[in-house]
Amino acid sequence: MAKARRGGKRSRSPSTPPEGGGPREHWRADGQAKTRFPSQDEANRSALQLRLEESADLDPYRCGFCGGWHLGNRRD
Ligand SMILES: [Zn+2]
Repeated sequence: MAKARRGGKRSRSPSTPPEGGGPREHWRADGQAKTRFPSQDEANRSALQLRLEESADLDPYRCGFCGGWHLGNRRD
């Protein structure tokens, strides 16, 4: 047999929220992980761009789950 798969049920994909739903600061409503920015500066830049392109009103915030930055809707 050429199957060399490691049987590890603990290796869950990082793009999949944990069972029962992860923290909302990190996961989107549709189950996808939010875009992560390494710094507030990067997040700010993207927020500004989205504001110009899509009139989106997004605020960068620090994520306590992954330690990065995400963009959130103020009205959310
Ligand atoms: Zn996060």
